[in-house]
Amino acid sequence: MATPNLSVVIPVYNEEASLPTLFARLYPALDALGTTYEVIFVNDGSRDRSAALLREQWERRPDTTRVVLFNANYGQHPAVVAGFEHCRGERMVTMDADLQNPPEEIAKLLAAMDAGHDYVGGVRRRREDSWFRRLASRAMNRVRERITRIHMTDQGCMLRAYSREIVAAVAASREVSTFIPALAYTFAHKPAEVAVAHEERAAGDSKYSLYRLIRLNFDLVTGFSLVPLQMFSMFGILVSITALVTYLVVILQRLVLSGWREGFATLWDRDILAFFLIGVMLFGLGLVGEYVGRIYQQVRHRPRYTVRAVLERESTQADEPRS
Ligand code: UDP
Ligand code: MG
Repeated sequence: MATPNLSVVIPVYNEEASLPTLFARLYPALDALGTTYEVIFVNDGSRDRSAALLREQWERRPDTTRVVLFNANYGQHPAVVAGFEHCRGERMVTMDADLQNPPEEIAKLLAAMDAGHDYVGGVRRRREDSWFRRLASRAMNRVRERITRIHMTDQGCMLRAYSREIVAAVAASREVSTFIPALAYTFAHKPAEVAVAHEERAAGDSKYSLYRLIRLNFDLVTGFSLVPLQMFSMFGILVSITALVTYLVVILQRLVLSGWREGFATLWDRDILAFFLIGVMLFGLGLVGEYVGRIYQQVRHRPRYTVRAVLERESTQADEPRS
């Protein structure tokens, strides 16, 4: 298989019910693009017949199909990372296997890339999910917008396109748990968004329980922001300052009302002292958090930056010693 123009990465976990429909719609949609492509399915340790179905599809379209089989279930985002590592296309598109992302919409993402963008995120026009999921998503989008430097309208939409440079940077990040659209965004230099359609799940059930959704959002928040750690210091400082003010007020009050002896004894007032010390402790905890945060950033092995180009003469006479 020569280098295709487009790689489509699809994580698959227990999707035997939707795979036949997916194959039937995906390949014609991609053929219609009139470009060379490959589809990479990553089977995330499915326990149903998904792996067998993927193998059949691979035998049917070996020219354009590649399948990566995980030995166990690692989660959607690790599966997508495997796609980043294996894909060969000039551009890459990720989407879900349940047809909630209509394959016919890929053309819109590619059009935005033709316009010079290196990262194109889909924004679901009308989301076909339960009200609870929509509400939770909206809340998380807002939290992310405030505490990280990642700006996107619809972080949950997996219909996204990435340039080769971003794919390489993500593949080079040796992170254990992460939220791929956000990680890729940090490497983008000209991101864009396009509205895409969203459909109800073709078949089967959502693979995300409430617990897994919460875990995923923890990955997002802790992976891209130290704010949760820093909140401790901030809160500690606030408590300490309030305690000091309380001290002053109470000391003054007692000085005026009951003389200097009482006023001085206030310093040992148990309640205010405890208040103050808790503030100091929280601040200390936050300080430790600062260091832990730095260690955390260091061990992630994220590329610190990606270079788009270096302008320099290859080997120049100027470098040679002048005689
Ligand atoms: N998925 C996966 N591993 C998992 C959970 C999900 O590969 O542990 C895949 C799943 O097969 C689908 C995509 O991730 O292609 C999105 O999952 P789902 O549709 O269940 O999520 P939802 O749409 O409910 O957010
Ligand atoms: Mg889905």
